[in-house]
Amino acid sequence: MKKEIASLIELDRQRTLLAHIDALLGWDQETYLPKSAVDERAEQIALIQGLVHEKAVDPRVGQLLSALEKHPDLEPLEKAYLRVSRREYDKETKLPPDFVMELARQTSLAQAAWADARRTNDFALFAPHLEKVIELNKRLANYINPHGRPYDVLLDLYEEGSTEAGIAAIFAQMKADTLKILSKIQSRPQVDDSFLHRPVSADRQARISLYLMDAVGFEKDKGRLDTVAHPFTTTLGKSDIRITTRYIEDFLASSMFSTIHESGHALYEMGIDPDPEYSGTRLAEPVSMAIHESQSRLWENMIGRSKAFWERHYAKIQEMAGTLDDVDLDSFVLAINKVEPSLIRTEADEVTYGLHIILRFELESSIMADKLAVKDIPEAWNAKTKELFGLDVPNNSSGCLQDIHWSMGSFGYFPSYALGNLYAAQFWHQMHKDIPDLEAQLAAGKTSVPLAWLRKNVHCHGSFYKPDELVKKATGEGLSPRYFAEYLDNKYAAVYGY
Ligand code: ZN
Repeated sequence: MKKEIASLIELDRQRTLLAHIDALLGWDQETYLPKSAVDERAEQIALIQGLVHEKAVDPRVGQLLSALEKHPDLEPLEKAYLRVSRREYDKETKLPPDFVMELARQTSLAQAAWADARRTNDFALFAPHLEKVIELNKRLANYINPHGRPYDVLLDLYEEGSTEAGIAAIFAQMKADTLKILSKIQSRPQVDDSFLHRPVSADRQARISLYLMDAVGFEKDKGRLDTVAHPFTTTLGKSDIRITTRYIEDFLASSMFSTIHESGHALYEMGIDPDPEYSGTRLAEPVSMAIHESQSRLWENMIGRSKAFWERHYAKIQEMAGTLDDVDLDSFVLAINKVEPSLIRTEADEVTYGLHIILRFELESSIMADKLAVKDIPEAWNAKTKELFGLDVPNNSSGCLQDIHWSMGSFGYFPSYALGNLYAAQFWHQMHKDIPDLEAQLAAGKTSVPLAWLRKNVHCHGSFYKPDELVKKATGEGLSPRYFAEYLDNKYAAVYGY
C-alpha cells in the first residue's frame, strides 16, 4: 500500500471513531435519555459533530488527496477510495464549522420538539423548529452548490447523481403502476386481518422480535435491540449495530416487520468489507441510503412477507404470540400482505407505500422552492393525502407530524425509501435467477442462502461502486422500475386472485 494512502486511512479512521461516538449520543437520545437532559445533549452532539467536521476537513486530507490523484498507477481499491474521499472532502470543506455545529444543535433540539409535538398532536410546538431546520437546509444546499437548485443538491447527498427531475420521472411510472395494481386489488374481496390486532403484550412481542432477528441471521454479539417511538438502525462501530423497534399492543405485525426491516439494515452494515485494509474508512461505509433501504425492504417484504419464510417460522410465532392458534398459515400470510390505503407510512403495505413517498417528495420540492410555508404544511399534507389515498387526516400526528426526518434535517432523504423498493425488487429478481430453488431454501429456514447472495453482490462492496454501478454489476442493468411493478403484480395477483 502506498504511504500516502496509509496516512489518509489513518486520518479517516479518527473521523470514523468520532462519528461513531456521535452516533452513540444520538442513539442514547432516542432510547434512554432523561427528558431534562435534552439541551445538554444537544450541546454534546454539536461539539462532537464539530470535531467530526474538523477531522473531515483536515488540510492534510486535501494535500494527500491532491498528491495521490496525480499518482500514475492506482489500484482499483485505491481509485475508489480516492473517489469517495474526494466527494466527502469537497462537500465538507464547503461547510463553515459554525454552520455544522448550528445544524447539529438545532436538529437535536428539533427532534425533541417533534417528539413532544407528535405525542400531543400540536404542530405549533414543532413549527418554529421546522422553520429553522428548513432555513439551515437551504443554507446547506447553498454552501455545497450555490448554482444548483437546492432540492437537487440535497437529493444528491443521499443518492449520488440523483436529481428532482430524474426522480420525478421514476415516480411518475411508479405511481401509474401502483394505481393500476391497486385498482385490481380493490376490485376483489378484501382480506381479514382482524386477528393481527388481538392484544399481544410488549414482553411477548419482544421475544418474537428477538426470535425473528435470529431467523434472518442477525449476529447478536454484534448488536442489540431497543425500543423507541420511531424505529431506526444506527452503527456505533463495525461490530456494534443497534436496531430499534416499537411494540403496539393491538398490532403485533408492526413490531414484527419493523424488527425484520431494521435487521435488514443491520445485516448490510455487518456485511460491509471491501477489504480489511480499508476497515473503518469511508470505503467501508454503505454506498447510499437507497441501497441501504433496498436491504431492509428486501428482508421485510420479499422475504419476511413470503409464504416460504413463514412455512418455517409460523408455528413458533403462533406459540409465542398466543393469539393465533385458530389462524392457519394461509390466512396469516394473506393478512400480513393486506393492501389498503392508510395514513401512516411506516405501517403501509408495500403497494401503497410508494404513494406516501410521492406525497413527501412533492411537498419537499415545494418547500425547497419557497412555494410552501411551514404554517401551510398541515393543510397541504392533508390535501395530498386526500388526492393520493382518498383519506381524511384526523390529526397532525397521523399526518405531517408522523415522521422524524424533517426534524433531523433530512430533506431529500424520503425518495431513498421508494428507490430502495425498486432496487430491492431488481436484486430479488436476479437472486431468483441465480438461485432457482430460493423458495425451497427459505421454506427450509435457510435465510443464509439469500444472505450469502446479498453479502457477495451488495454488502461486501461498501462504497467501492456507485449505486448505479452496483446495481449494474449485480443484475446486469441499471435501475429499472419495471422489476418492482412486476414483483407486485405477480405477488398480488396470487394473493388477491385477480
Ligand atoms: Zn429503513
